[in-house]
Amino acid sequence: MSIIDCHIHLNNYDGLNKTENKVLSLEERLNALLESMEDNGIVYSLILSSYKVDVNRPSTSQIIESINLNNVEDKIGVVAGYAIDNHTPDDLINYREWIKDGIIKGIKLYCGYEHHYPYDERYQIVYDMCTEFDCPVMIHTGDAFSNTAKIKYAHPLNIDDVAVDNPDLKIVMCHIGNPWITDCQEVLYKNKNVYADISGLIVGNFTSSGERHYAGKINEMLNYVENPHRLLYGSDWPISNMKSYVNFVQKLELDKESYELLMFKNSKSIFKLSL
Ligand SMILES: [Zn+2]
Repeated sequence: MSIIDCHIHLNNYDGLNKTENKVLSLEERLNALLESMEDNGIVYSLILSSYKVDVNRPSTSQIIESINLNNVEDKIGVVAGYAIDNHTPDDLINYREWIKDGIIKGIKLYCGYEHHYPYDERYQIVYDMCTEFDCPVMIHTGDAFSNTAKIKYAHPLNIDDVAVDNPDLKIVMCHIGNPWITDCQEVLYKNKNVYADISGLIVGNFTSSGERHYAGKINEMLNYVENPHRLLYGSDWPISNMKSYVNFVQKLELDKESYELLMFKNSKSIFKLSL
């Protein structure tokens, strides 16, 4: 069974893939990703660029360049990060061209990491562009991997406003709004233009009690939404371990068709991947 992982990062994170003495280069991180994909049956990954660019966080164009240099366009795609606080005027000009040319597959917003609600009118330019090209916008929801994030901006209920006001926009809520999974579930149920990825529920490996907890929540969500077309598989690697994530999915109560939708078909269709 082929798997698409729709939520991957190539950043260096303190305490994860970065130690005091050794910072992995972008090339080394890309190679580590390809190796982990190979080991776990992941045929395609989407790399999400960050809300800022620095020594640990490559820009969208650096990521695209690195994918091209290594000739791995058939295995790796890019979703471009956009921040109200940290964008340049060129970003949206480039993103428009890259979306048109199929070089980027979506835009990612980092509400919570930056202190703006997803319905802030300064994001509307992104929603309009994504709607024009039928390109999904991914929005961070739920707990954040940073002490400076303010999580009221990342509450999944905020997504309802964006979904209602932009009915033709495809929205992917990242991390099923964890821990506000019930709220995410309602936003999914109510708005047919909203999807959610199951990435980043744990740091590192699932414990067995963590597996039970999250499997229960996701099973409940699938029953409530009554539609296996709305959830996407993603891990949040390197924050979460890929093998542990693939194993976790085996704990869900999924028939064969729902499993294939979650692991492959939904991402292929929403991000319009030619696989
Ligand atoms: Zn992430």
